[in-house]
Amino acid sequence: MRTLEDLDVDGKRVLVRVDFNVPLDEDQNITDDARIRAALPTLRELRENGARLLLAAHLGRPKDREPEFSLKSVAERLGDLLGTDVQLAESLDDVPDGDVVMLENVRYEKGETKNDPELAERYAALADLYVNDAFGAAHRAHASTEAVARLLPSAAGRLLEREVSTLRGILDDPKRPLVAVVGGAKVTDKIGVLEAFLERADTILIGGAMCFPFFKAQGHDVGDSLCEEAGIEPARKLAGQDKIELPQDLVAGREFKADTERRELDGVDVPDGWMGLDVGEATAERYAGVIAEAGTVFWNGPMGAFELAPFAAGTKRVAEAIAAAPGTTVVGGGDSAAALAQFGLADEVDHLSTGGGASLELVEGKPLPGVEVLQ
Ligand code: ADP
Ligand code: MG
Repeated sequence: MRTLEDLDVDGKRVLVRVDFNVPLDEDQNITDDARIRAALPTLRELRENGARLLLAAHLGRPKDREPEFSLKSVAERLGDLLGTDVQLAESLDDVPDGDVVMLENVRYEKGETKNDPELAERYAALADLYVNDAFGAAHRAHASTEAVARLLPSAAGRLLEREVSTLRGILDDPKRPLVAVVGGAKVTDKIGVLEAFLERADTILIGGAMCFPFFKAQGHDVGDSLCEEAGIEPARKLAGQDKIELPQDLVAGREFKADTERRELDGVDVPDGWMGLDVGEATAERYAGVIAEAGTVFWNGPMGAFELAPFAAGTKRVAEAIAAAPGTTVVGGGDSAAALAQFGLADEVDHLSTGGGASLELVEGKPLPGVEVLQ
């Protein structure tokens, strides 16, 4: 993959695709600017080397040019972080000539998500060089992530470079034992990840709602637990594998809310009228022990409904074990990152991926269009 070493940026206008898809509240205030901060090393390096920046980013999924998807507050926050003025270009036909300029939401442009070559030409006409630092958008072939990279001398930014090398590194040459911890709610999205780790990992620890298709396939009662029907057959095929470890106890609630009735279950059969919402204490301790012995840990997906205080303990125990682990620790997934932040542990892991979908696709071994085009 081409990197910043391969570009001479001095005096050049560099189009930089960044992932500034940050959460905003109703008043357009940014509630978490981690993604903006994650791009700063690349932006600072480019500026130190004499580049003028033209930034391209998306925010949400606008259908039209709805103002709530404007990058206005993002441009302001970036200006504060960089300590310079960031001008927002309302239109591709009228881009100001400042040192740091940001295009409006690229998804305001009709052809963006269609990877439209004509739109890519219009982007390319605005710059001399192209840098992609938007790892979180690298699994999409869009005009600002893929087509434009074919039209200008292009390279990966530092964030994209680090994401790809770290995630590929744990697949290709991990310190062993390699332990994958997989939980969360989007079970069918993650079957491919389990299959990829089945070939490479030494142990796979299953938690969250991920365990219920396995339990159902084994004939256990899952009660009202979140159990994706489409996950049951794939789980049946995986369940016999020694590497795959399942919970031995669970915490259940009546409903998915904090003030519901709560019950600790000895085993993994969930009675009717109850749903499994966390792994139990014995499971969390066992998983923590495996994590402590690991050479490398990859974590995706919370162990339970960690947003609800009565069901956060399993995720917290596992997050603490990962934070304290002597091995290399890598975390992917928006909710897993949110869980780490909730427990104040976000700085305690070696690599916290900025890309949810992109990190999973990379780990699955799927080619990422935004990365392939830089190779
Ligand atoms: P990530 O974003 O880290 O990839 P997911 O999006 O797959 O993770 O899953 C996160 C969600 O999974 C959280 O909102 C959490 O409440 C939910 N979850 C975890 N365990 C359970 C469970 N047993 N039942 C229902 N929801 C669960
Ligand atoms: Mg999620």
